[in-house]
Amino acid sequence: MKPFDYARPGDVAEAVRVATLPGAVFLGGGTNLVDHLKLGVARPDLVVDVRTLTSREVTDTEDGGLRAGAAVTNSELAADRRVRERYPVLAQALLAGATGQLRNTATTGGNPLQRTRCVYFQDVTTPCNKREPGTGCSAIGGTTRNHAVLGASQACIATHPSDMAVALAALDACVQVLGPTGERTVPFTELHRLPGDDPSRDTVLEQGELITAMGLPPLPAARTSAYRKVRDRASYAFALVSVAAVLDVRDGVVQDVRIALGGVAHKPWRATRAEQALRGGPATPDAFAAAAAEELADARPQPGIDGGNGFKVPLVTRTLVATLRDLTAAQEG
Ligand code: SF4
Repeated sequence: MKPFDYARPGDVAEAVRVATLPGAVFLGGGTNLVDHLKLGVARPDLVVDVRTLTSREVTDTEDGGLRAGAAVTNSELAADRRVRERYPVLAQALLAGATGQLRNTATTGGNPLQRTRCVYFQDVTTPCNKREPGTGCSAIGGTTRNHAVLGASQACIATHPSDMAVALAALDACVQVLGPTGERTVPFTELHRLPGDDPSRDTVLEQGELITAMGLPPLPAARTSAYRKVRDRASYAFALVSVAAVLDVRDGVVQDVRIALGGVAHKPWRATRAEQALRGGPATPDAFAAAAAEELADARPQPGIDGGNGFKVPLVTRTLVATLRDLTAAQEG
């Protein structure tokens, strides 16, 4: 492990000021960063510990939404009664991630910033544009089972690993950020980047910008929402494919729908094409499958020495149909 300096500032303003220095990183729960320090994937000069600086409370907002401080743990957020009642998709996504021990440590601010589990990214002996820009992508032509089918580039075909982030994308959450130039709010769907020609940057956050809270908007339809995750093992595994969905159906007609997909792209993938296809139409399995086809029209499965990831396209369709079918049944009986 490369030696680094450690700082524990007195407040968030000082943390942001200290972390503006190149080579500085924030430490929240540390469940991803500490692994990367040990593997040599992360080689910071300075680790700025912010664990005790941001809020660890979930509060009601005046407009009927919720605000979760960045230090709220994944376990605490999943167990919050208001989250379970008003945003079950988020509680289910949180509980689908990692293990109880990790959820007790991982934070609301840190979870969406975890990095890809591409095996080449985590193996410092292999070329990887995300870890070392300009060295190439070992996954292309390598093992691609867990890689992207949407929005990838020739520079990187990695997927984003967070379950929580998929739910937040479907819920139109917003990210509160404090940086060297002040506060700003980032729509959650705009937090993560597609790889393009610079996959080293996962998000739009600049050096020194700290997530201080996550905002959940009032969304009555989200009381009927669900997260469905398909993975190789029943627990402690990342999604091959996942679906976060909010569905409002009346008299067999889709009034409102929000969908995000996990395990398919470099970012949580908001399925706007599928949503558009579904709104105002019949809530039937055929319509759900047609909407999935619409969303996947630009899918580009990757060949690979492990058989590739072409299976993800039909798997997304089946997972989306099953999720929407169950949500319809929950409302219409
Ligand atoms: Fe690196 Fe991305 Fe290629 Fe994986 S897919 S080896 S993270 S550049």
